[in-house]
Amino acid sequence: MVDCNICKIVDNEVESKKVYEDDSLLAILHPKPAALGHIVLMPKEHFPIFENIPNELVIHMFNIASKLSASIFASMGVQGTNIFMQNGVPAGQTVPHAVVHIIPRAENDGVSLEWDPKTLDLEEMSTIELKLKEETKGITIKEEAEQPVMVTKKEIQLPSEGETKPEGDIKKDDENYLLKQLERMP
Ligand SMILES: [Zn+2]
Repeated sequence: MVDCNICKIVDNEVESKKVYEDDSLLAILHPKPAALGHIVLMPKEHFPIFENIPNELVIHMFNIASKLSASIFASMGVQGTNIFMQNGVPAGQTVPHAVVHIIPRAENDGVSLEWDPKTLDLEEMSTIELKLKEETKGITIKEEAEQPVMVTKKEIQLPSEGETKPEGDIKKDDENYLLKQLERMP
């Protein structure tokens, strides 16, 4: 077994302030937050980095991240949220368990997640563009044999119950999804 503080939280060995829970995910208030209401959303199963998380759970996790962000807007009256992962040690990951952060943001709140824009060599940019394009050619989304992740809370709905859709429908679904998201914006 890995000695993992996030797993200890999931197993209730370490106390936490839980704000959301279902069969596969747990969301808690960060004990050392960047701002009041800073949420940490974690898969209950131990996955070290983002790329280890199965497709269905990634979909579910980011759906829930969106709902948690909406909950922050609705309950805290803030003007924004940052939603991000620290994937790998150089990216600031301090626990060996992939989690998503959702941080409430207000004007002049003193939280800093910005970077100094770099001016890069155009040739260097083109080289990496080609390398990435070559690599992303191989991307396929495989259907996973396992059951789709079930949600216990009624009001949260997954976009599909594991059904496959022809690629042509994806754009339309995305548009519907965006419209739905806009409707619940503060
Ligand atoms: Zn863990």
